[in-house]
Amino acid sequence: MERKKIIEVKELVKQYGDFTAVKGISFDVFEGEIFGLLGPNGAGKSTTLEIIETLREKTAGKVLVDGLDLDKSPEAIKTRIGVQLQTSGYYPGLTLTELIDLFSGLYNQPVNATELLSRFNLEDKAKAKFKELSGGQKQRFSIATTLINKPKIIFLDEPTTGLDPQARRNLWELIQQVRAHGTTVVITTHYMDEAEFLCDRCAIVDSGQIIAIDSPDALIDQLVSSGFERPKQVKKANLEDVFIQLTGKNIREN
Ligand code: ADP
Ligand code: MG
Repeated sequence: MERKKIIEVKELVKQYGDFTAVKGISFDVFEGEIFGLLGPNGAGKSTTLEIIETLREKTAGKVLVDGLDLDKSPEAIKTRIGVQLQTSGYYPGLTLTELIDLFSGLYNQPVNATELLSRFNLEDKAKAKFKELSGGQKQRFSIATTLINKPKIIFLDEPTTGLDPQARRNLWELIQQVRAHGTTVVITTHYMDEAEFLCDRCAIVDSGQIIAIDSPDALIDQLVSSGFERPKQVKKANLEDVFIQLTGKNIREN
């Protein structure tokens, strides 16, 4: 069955003055998938994301979101997408319920705040102020708020940076649940374990260019078939497994 392309990016270029941060990249995202942009710092991931989100001007190229041309219908695109704010973007003194009501009013979309908070394991924090939340709770809340306008696609820019292993794994599960509800997810990360766990397909971006694009499995298979072998015998567990076994999977406060 032909999968529907929900995002089409063609020959996208972004210049900041003389510097070309995005050098003519092209990729598609299919409806219902978790698509990753992977790459080191400065690769051009956030720039690419923010252009698709209508938050940054492109220099050249074509972007279609849900069939809508970015150049012609940015306002219509905004109604179909959910964008994760930097955590500094929230009024720190408002409670989570107040913040949800605020967004709900801005988007003119009725939202059941209690239901949304409990979906993200934040029901106990309904009356807490944003500034009182732990790092993981802030990230969960910021992902919850991307869903308020009932978007078809959400964009998450490095959602797990700075979180401890429990909070990261918890966030991965929540992101999978968002997708299971039918929302397409576009995520950036420089954690390869995260991409391997979450992404159906990913593009590896380096210096403003896509140097590989496929499922994590296929990318690994291609590397192995090229003759690559890990330099030492791989153990059946890693240090993160040890840490999780010893400290448990329950989310902590930090
Ligand atoms: P990533 O998200 O992959 O870390 P970015 O898209 O943030 O990368 O940045 C890509 C490159 O563009 C970097 O070299 C960065 O310094 C540069 N850059 C980003 N934003 C601006 C800006 N507003 N003005 C000038 N250069 C920028
Ligand atoms: Mg970035």
